[in-house]
Amino acid sequence: MPAMATGNASYSARDLAHVWHPCTQMKDHEVLPMIPIRRGAGVWLEDFEGRRYLDAISSWWVNLFGHANPRINAAVRGQLERLEQVILAGFTHEPVIALSEALTAIAPAGLTRCFYADNGSSAVEVAVKMSFHYWRNVGKSAKRRFITLSNSYHGETLGALAVGNVELYKDIYKPLLMDVITVPSPDCFEREPGESWAEHSRRKFAHMEAALAQHAGETAAVILEPLVQCAGSMRMYDPVYLALLRQACDRHGVHLIADEIAVGFDRTGTMFACEQAGIRPDMMCLSKGLTAGYLPLSAVVTTDSIYSAFYDEYVKLTAFLHSHSFTGNPLACAAARASLDIFRTDDVLDRNRALAAHLGAKARELEAHPHVAEVRQHGMIVAIELVRDKATREPYPWQERRGLTIYRHALSRGVLLRPIGTVVYFMPPYVITPEEIDLIVQVAREGIELATCD
Ligand code: PMP
Repeated sequence: MPAMATGNASYSARDLAHVWHPCTQMKDHEVLPMIPIRRGAGVWLEDFEGRRYLDAISSWWVNLFGHANPRINAAVRGQLERLEQVILAGFTHEPVIALSEALTAIAPAGLTRCFYADNGSSAVEVAVKMSFHYWRNVGKSAKRRFITLSNSYHGETLGALAVGNVELYKDIYKPLLMDVITVPSPDCFEREPGESWAEHSRRKFAHMEAALAQHAGETAAVILEPLVQCAGSMRMYDPVYLALLRQACDRHGVHLIADEIAVGFDRTGTMFACEQAGIRPDMMCLSKGLTAGYLPLSAVVTTDSIYSAFYDEYVKLTAFLHSHSFTGNPLACAAARASLDIFRTDDVLDRNRALAAHLGAKARELEAHPHVAEVRQHGMIVAIELVRDKATREPYPWQERRGLTIYRHALSRGVLLRPIGTVVYFMPPYVITPEEIDLIVQVAREGIELATCD
């Protein structure tokens, strides 16, 4: 058979005839090759012509322990032989029970109840509705607004889009979205020269304090991404902001929703990013790494006190009647349990600490580059921000799409990087080796040279 019949080109042609891809201007594929993947193993993806790509972004930040991980494969395979799916209303199953026990055991103390959905955006919808509905149930129906940070991202469904703030995704849909109160982000890229992350984050908290003081009576919850605004160009801030926010939410009687969808499961150096501030949110949204990136699943983990506000005689109509067909799918729960087992048995946090130190040190070698404004890090997330002018921090015009040059170069060198604008970042699976870290940083360095050489 000729190579073309089974190679990348034939899959690409079949794909482009019918598949409409996410987050993509499909016209780009007139010049940008589609990459069909036939298998994955560990950090590596392999296309239909045998070319390999190191998945340095964990396939949109979901993968934790590599593709086709033998332990997770076995768990999913075993579950498949027993039960693939069952309605979770009125019925239950062992994987969802065991997963809920395991999650509440590792979550910040006091988060004891798990409500499931099947993707990150849906978890955010659940948390937003749950907070609003809680306040209704306790007789405070004026509390129906949400406070959110500038540059935040919480997903693409209409409620999640409304509480997010990345203009590129949100602007066009604004006529469809609920009105929210947006407070300036503590984003430390914007700190003054000589100011520490903690000082800057603390200073920025004044805006949040003012918004809470003014709007607490009409506000159900503050929602934010702890420590890293991932889709918002991997902008980062100090844990002190979360500690101050917890105190202020308590003072003002407002829920705190922590969207740990991207940063949960040791992405930032602790199992959950909130731990670094020693706080317990009222609701914690989890997805992505929840199943180690295997299957769609999300959870909102919350407190007994919130749960209790929905618990009453049916006719009082206080129940939380939210549902998705695949809520708590057994295969996904089995993958999630296997992933948490790996955390339990394999010293993942210690190993990640060493890998993160290596990744950070390597990436910081790029700090001296004339177009690198900053190399920033929280654990296993490292970002390199490029600018046209280092002295003034003037950005490159977005229309130049310089990140695309880096993306293409990296693919040609066997690495999957996917810069956000001109922010190159690494968020690799935890099974990456130090040598593979050296490779991804070296390839990023070459891509940055290429993209900034004029
Ligand atoms: N919240 C955060 C912080 C995210 O990073 C994402 C996904 N990038 C979402 C929510 C939405 O999750 P999903 O794509 O599964 O809907």
